[in-house]
Amino acid sequence: MSTFLIYCDDASHPNKRQLVKRFSVIRGIVWTVGMGTNLEGDEPLEDDFELLERMQEDGRTVRGRHRFECPRCGLTVPIRGDKLTAIARRAVADSRSGASLTELA
Ligand SMILES: [Zn+2]
Repeated sequence: MSTFLIYCDDASHPNKRQLVKRFSVIRGIVWTVGMGTNLEGDEPLEDDFELLERMQEDGRTVRGRHRFECPRCGLTVPIRGDKLTAIARRAVADSRSGASLTELA
């Protein structure tokens, strides 16, 4: 298991990357922490992003939205769940361990 980090590298705190949010990555899938995990036996069934995508494919109007805020400088970036999913998956596929708030904006 590895982790995928959302961090802030705003110019107001140079040389000091601020961790904003940590996700677990299991078998290439990004898992949010603290949002609940569905289990089948002891195996995770699906991640929140997949669940969200399925709901969207079903034509429901539910749309996931995350809001990340840097505790150091207050930079706040709202992002739709599907966009975050795409960025996170691309980063994981490229063996990167995180993305900055400015990448999400
Ligand atoms: Zn910051």
